[in-house]
Amino acid sequence: MAIELQDFTKFEPFNALREKMQATELGFFEIFNPQFHLTGNERSDLERIGVSLPRALLMHLLDFTLVYKNSRVIVMQDNRFHVAYCSEFPVQTDYLVSTNFIGSSELRVCEHCLTRLHYKGYEPLKARKEAYSLKVLEEFQLSQFWAQFPTYPVSEKRDIRKQIS
Ligand SMILES: [Zn+2]
Repeated sequence: MAIELQDFTKFEPFNALREKMQATELGFFEIFNPQFHLTGNERSDLERIGVSLPRALLMHLLDFTLVYKNSRVIVMQDNRFHVAYCSEFPVQTDYLVSTNFIGSSELRVCEHCLTRLHYKGYEPLKARKEAYSLKVLEEFQLSQFWAQFPTYPVSEKRDIRKQIS
């Protein structure tokens, strides 16, 4: 005997409730899991003061951008910051990560990250693109970067991310 599943979109008491709530979309609910999803406090810390992370918790996506839980992040290193898992990415026990500039305003984006991402066509070794690439580097703005690689939310799927090693 086939089991017939109730179609809740045709279930009158629920529809009446939806109408009462003035909910026109069915929508979906994501179960919050602090292992994979940033809390409000973590998001606020990332934006304002940065978060210190052990290496095991910092990952990179298949596009090489850096990610912590379901948010893209940048990694501070001395007077520069990394926006990707680049050829010069430091191997450390802990990283200071953020979604904003933390501390000095003298911070510069790491050029190796731009190379890795081919950011805006950045290709400093190609002679005819030298001047253009320098311009991309000097005019780098984090807000523009986030427009191309949105910070949040990034899928928490394990198969799209890799360990920093
Ligand atoms: Zn870098």
